[in-house]
Amino acid sequence: MNPVQPTGKPSVPEEFRARQRRQKILAFGLFVVMTPVLVAIKLRRLSISWVIPIVVLILGAMVYSLKNWRCPACQKVLGRSWNYQICPAGKETLENR
Ligand SMILES: [Zn+2]
Repeated sequence: MNPVQPTGKPSVPEEFRARQRRQKILAFGLFVVMTPVLVAIKLRRLSISWVIPIVVLILGAMVYSLKNWRCPACQKVLGRSWNYQICPAGKETLENR
């Protein structure tokens, strides 16, 4: 298989891998941010002024995730799993191994 497409457009599996990577970075970023936040809540030391930025951040991450975590070909939303052999519509191959 040729990784360089003459059209310059990434193939569906390539685009899926890119989206998968962005989704993992997002999840890791949220984990890094939310861990101290959860500790602060547990210790009852979370300042009230932090509540709105945190809610905005979580909502933003959810919106981004909903936009990103779709089949590159038919735009159907993917589920909770990281790995998909075929898309939810069952048409496109997302992972070529
Ligand atoms: Zn699809």
